[in-house]
Amino acid sequence: MGLIAASAPISLSATGSATRKVAKRGTLNLSFKPYELQLRHAFNLARYSRTTTPDVQVQLEYDGIVGYGECSMPPYLGETVESVTQFLSKLDLSQFTDPFRLEDILAYVDSVAQGNRAAKAGVDIALHDLLGKIMGQPWYKIWGLNPEATPNTSFTIGIDTEDVVRQKVKEASPYKVIKVKMGLDKDQQTINIIREMMPDVPICVDVNQGWKTKEHALEMCHWLKERGCLFVEQPFDKTWIDETAWLREHSPLPIIADEAFQRLPDILRFKGVYDGINIKLMKSTGMHEAHKMVTLARALGMKVMIGCMTETSCAVTAAANLAPLVDYADLDGNLLIANDRFKGMTVVNGKVTLHDIPGIGVKLIN
Ligand code: MG
Repeated sequence: MGLIAASAPISLSATGSATRKVAKRGTLNLSFKPYELQLRHAFNLARYSRTTTPDVQVQLEYDGIVGYGECSMPPYLGETVESVTQFLSKLDLSQFTDPFRLEDILAYVDSVAQGNRAAKAGVDIALHDLLGKIMGQPWYKIWGLNPEATPNTSFTIGIDTEDVVRQKVKEASPYKVIKVKMGLDKDQQTINIIREMMPDVPICVDVNQGWKTKEHALEMCHWLKERGCLFVEQPFDKTWIDETAWLREHSPLPIIADEAFQRLPDILRFKGVYDGINIKLMKSTGMHEAHKMVTLARALGMKVMIGCMTETSCAVTAAANLAPLVDYADLDGNLLIANDRFKGMTVVNGKVTLHDIPGIGVKLIN
């Protein structure tokens, strides 16, 4: 499928290269195309299951240099291919003649409509990729970060039958941290299987709002602590502020927010409620605000995790540029899909590994 040009009067080819010479010089030319992500395994969470993720691939071209971006839309976040393409079609980036006016460009994108966080992230990521390519440097270097300082990334095991859990635990063997999805009645069974097969690997737990009482949650936190769990993510419904603050006060494990927040100002109300935050580019509207969120969370004394949706290596690698700043990384979204278009960050001995590739650090492979 060809790309849809937002403001430029032309469509780009599927690879984004064939018609580049007719793009308007000296301006930003945005184009995009829907791209459904095929999942390797059905993805089972406490609240739903799915086998594909809607996605839109974005390109931002300036004088023959192309930046890549991506919008991934897991259904619970409320965006769709239609809403994203509608939003992107409204943008007129050709008004900007200097791509380095990143603050102005992203403020304009943010002002066009409320919400649309994944759509905005797609533009933000493509702009960062473009600027990094023009400067000839990857973003972790532009931000002054040490690529050796990245944490291990976790590998996610969903809620499933015993056989599937065993198969996934085998696949997880190269990883140094296992993230376990919880919130249904098989919680303890899943942990017991993992502990039987991998007795020593640290685990973390993502409840995806699935626990229903404070007492059960606290009991589980103690039970998990004894089994080498590092932290618990989003134990309760995102609106349960008092219950979460109570659990945080009593729990032997840190409590991390995910569904409970999206953007920078949301973090201000978390002091005393959560111990840390899971930043994802599709919530934060991209890399620019995600970087500010790390700074604010640190100022509030909070732990920071960088996560992702099911995404190609494009958005996952964009997020990985922040990995040297965080305590925990959960950047396995590209490994969960069967039709990745990019090669980017890799996981070596369980650790997020950044490469010296300008921009966000990806190469298009198909
Ligand atoms: Mg989560």
